Amino acid sequence: MVRRSGRTGPAEAMWQASRLDYAAMTPLRDDGRTIHASGRPDRGQEAGHGLDPQTVRAEFLALDQTVHGHPLVYLDNAATALKPRCVIEAVTRMYARDCANVHRGVHMLSQRATDAYEQARESVGSFINAESAAEVVFVRGTTEAINLVAQAWAIEHIGPGDQILITGLEHHANIVPWQMVCKQVGAELVAAPVDDTGAVPLAEIQARISKRTRLVAIAHVSNVLGTVLPVRAIADLAHASGALVLVDGAQAVPHMAVDVRALGCDFYTFSGHKLYGPTGIGVLWARRDILASMSLYQGGGGMIQSVTLDRTLYRDEPYRFEAGTPHIAGAVGLRAAIEYVGTIGFEAISAHERDLLAYATARLGEVAGLRLIGTAGDKTGVLSFTIESVHPHDIGTVVDTRGVAIRTGHHCAQPLMERFAVPAMARASLALYNTRSDIDALIDALLVVEEMFG
Ligand code: PLP
Repeated sequence: MVRRSGRTGPAEAMWQASRLDYAAMTPLRDDGRTIHASGRPDRGQEAGHGLDPQTVRAEFLALDQTVHGHPLVYLDNAATALKPRCVIEAVTRMYARDCANVHRGVHMLSQRATDAYEQARESVGSFINAESAAEVVFVRGTTEAINLVAQAWAIEHIGPGDQILITGLEHHANIVPWQMVCKQVGAELVAAPVDDTGAVPLAEIQARISKRTRLVAIAHVSNVLGTVLPVRAIADLAHASGALVLVDGAQAVPHMAVDVRALGCDFYTFSGHKLYGPTGIGVLWARRDILASMSLYQGGGGMIQSVTLDRTLYRDEPYRFEAGTPHIAGAVGLRAAIEYVGTIGFEAISAHERDLLAYATARLGEVAGLRLIGTAGDKTGVLSFTIESVHPHDIGTVVDTRGVAIRTGHHCAQPLMERFAVPAMARASLALYNTRSDIDALIDALLVVEEMFG
C-alpha cells in the first residue's frame, strides 16, 4: 500500500496535483481527442511570446527543492532536461484516463490513445517542418534512431571499400553504430578533426568527402562543446558527391528551430527527454522515399499487414519501423513538451540562453586555473571546463554539496577527450529556466573548489 500521509514538499504537492480533477487539465474534446485545446501552433519557432524566467521556473516542479540545504541549481540539461507541469500532466492523463493500446482496439479508450499517439506524430512532424507525419518514426531516443538507420539503411547501402564520414566531436551514439556497420560490411570510418576552438572546419570535411563516401553522420550541436555545425553546407557537399546525411540533433532541438527541409539532411534524430519531454521516446525523421527504401528493423505486432505461417506482408512507413507496443504516453508527453516550447518560442529561448552563455563565460574567467574548452563562434549554452590540479569528479562532487548539479566525466565523447588531452571535463549546460543567479551559484561553488584544492 502506498502511504501518502506525512509526505511534504514539492513531491507531495506534485502528487496532489496529479490527483486533480482530470477535467480541469487541458480539456478533452467531445470525441475524446486530447490536448491542443489552446489552438496554439505546434512549431516551437512560430509563437514567440517572450520568456519570463520566473513564470517559466514555476512550471518546473523539480526546481522547487533544496539539495544539501541549498536551493537546487540544475545545470545538467545536456544530459536531460527537467519537465514542465504540462508534460507531467499529459503523461499522467494518458495513464489515468486514456490508458489503452493503440492501433488495435475498437473501443473508445483505444481510439483516444490512438488519436493522441498519432496527433503526437503530427506535432513532431510540424515541429521539424517535415513534409508529412509519415516521415516521423517514434523510437526510444537518438541512440535507437541512429542504430535503426545503421541496421535498416546503412548495411544495405554501404559496402566494402566505402566510407562513412563523422567528425571528432561526436557522441558515442554517433560513432559506435557506424563502427559496427563498417565491421559488418567492410567499410571504413573516417573522422574530420576538431580545431582548438571546438569547431570542425568545413574544409576538413570537404577534404574527406569523395566518391567513396556513402554517408556523412554529424552532430547538429556538440553535447560537450556546444559547437553548432554548419549542417546545410555539409549536406550540400555530401550530396554533391552522392552521399546521404544523418544529423544527430539531440542537442539542437531544445535550443533552436529545426527545419529538416532547410537543413537539407536525409535523416534527423533526437530524444524527447532533452527537449523537456519524457525519457524513452525519441524520433527518427527521414525523407519518405528513403524510409520506403529501407529494410526492416524489428519484427512483431504493429508493423504487419498480414501474417501466415509462411509469409508476412508489412505496413507502410512509419509503422513498419515500430514493432510492438510503442511508448504511447511518451509520445503524448513529447507533444506537450513541443507545445510548451511553442508558447515561448525559439527566438526568446535562444536570446535568453545566449545572454546566459555570455554571462557564464565571463564569470568562469574569475576562477583561477579554469580552462574553458569549446569556444567556437557558433555555440549553444554548454560550458565544459577543467580546473588545474583538480579532477573533474571532485569539482562535480564539491559543487553538488552547494546544490549545484553539473556533469563530469567523458560525456560519452571519449575521442573528443583525447583530442583535448584530458581524461574528463566538468560541464555546465543551460536550459530555458536557468538564470544569472544560477550562474552566480555555480561560480560561488567553484570558488569553494578553488579554496579546497587551490
Ligand atoms: N547524441 C548526442 C549529441 C547526445 O548528447 C546524446 C545524449 O546525451 C545522444 C546522442 C544520445 O541520446 P539518448 O541517450 O537519448 O539516446
